[in-house]
Amino acid sequence: KSATMRIARLWADLIEKERISVAIDYRKAAIIGCGFVGASIAFRFLQQGLFSRMVLIDANREKAEGEAMDLRDGLPYGASMEITAGSYDDITDCSLVVITAGVNQKPGETRLELIERNAGIMRSIIREITARPFEGILLVVSNPVDVLTYTAWKLSGYPRERVIGSGTVLDTGRLKQLLGEELKVDGRNVHAFIAGEHGDSELPVWSGANVSGLDLDAFCRLRGIELHASNRERIYREIRDSANEIIKRKGATYYGIAMAVGRIAECIVKDEHAILPISVVLDGEYGLDRVALSIPSIVGKNGLEKVLEIPLEETERRALNESARQLKEAFAGLK
Ligand code: NAD
Repeated sequence: KSATMRIARLWADLIEKERISVAIDYRKAAIIGCGFVGASIAFRFLQQGLFSRMVLIDANREKAEGEAMDLRDGLPYGASMEITAGSYDDITDCSLVVITAGVNQKPGETRLELIERNAGIMRSIIREITARPFEGILLVVSNPVDVLTYTAWKLSGYPRERVIGSGTVLDTGRLKQLLGEELKVDGRNVHAFIAGEHGDSELPVWSGANVSGLDLDAFCRLRGIELHASNRERIYREIRDSANEIIKRKGATYYGIAMAVGRIAECIVKDEHAILPISVVLDGEYGLDRVALSIPSIVGKNGLEKVLEIPLEETERRALNESARQLKEAFAGLK
């Protein structure tokens, strides 16, 4: 372990002091962990045609090979792309590495209960990555995603801009969709987000919610719809409990998260400067630090560009603080 740390430090010194620059291929991505989630993300990337080269890495090499072979069969009907099963040596010139390795929740299990098992896996992955010269972005998807994003940032020593988590991009999509159905308007016109933990302590930020610039109350009046506190609570619960409900029925969730990760990757590759509630390591914003959680942030080719400090109501601020407290406690409890 200490030898690996020494190599990581050597690489960092060489890159920084000797100005060695590792060529980044902006059209190359790697996915570490090729289970339900990793394979679905790879399928999404293939459909998007965002990358020219995609490397699949899994502790089970045959699984990665099988997925790469299956995906390659789709190439004649998709984008032009090189898809291979590979090893960590293939990540050095990647612009994006998506980490989805880890075990999944069992029915009824919370995301935070996965922590010890998946943090161990994350440690071994970060050790491999930092033992090589890599200057791209790490996008953590494995759960509990906020604690693992913080773990990856802390262990890698990379700037926080380069270590982000998929956070509540998925939950926020659910919120837009459900609110759109309730208000009988296209969910893509709804601007609202879920903040905090991607998990049980997450919070909907109703205070800033609007439909194409009209605040929710004004829009409801125009539409002749009443959105009572009980309706809001039902929508929030449905979002928060959605993964558990899906897992109860089919054992895992993967299509929704694959779409969400596809959107994050698109913002990075196209340098969109788009606003997404990714999981970010906070550095004093909202009076919080030493924690990663979701907050609307500008995302571009360098990963995190800017954490936005948007106005919150007192109850929302308290809920965000409580979410941060629970995440810090979970991280502190790691062996
Ligand atoms: P899965 O069991 O189908 O796949 C996990 C894969 O990781 C397996 O192929 C396994 O071989 C591989 N793996 C394990 N240890 C590894 C290591 N050290 N290096 C490389 N590969 C390794 O699980 P899944 O359903 O694909 O879920 C993966 C993770 O994604 C879980 O933690 C799950 O909770 C999480 N997830 C997150 C979100 C989100 O919104 N962030 C949504 C769904 C699932």
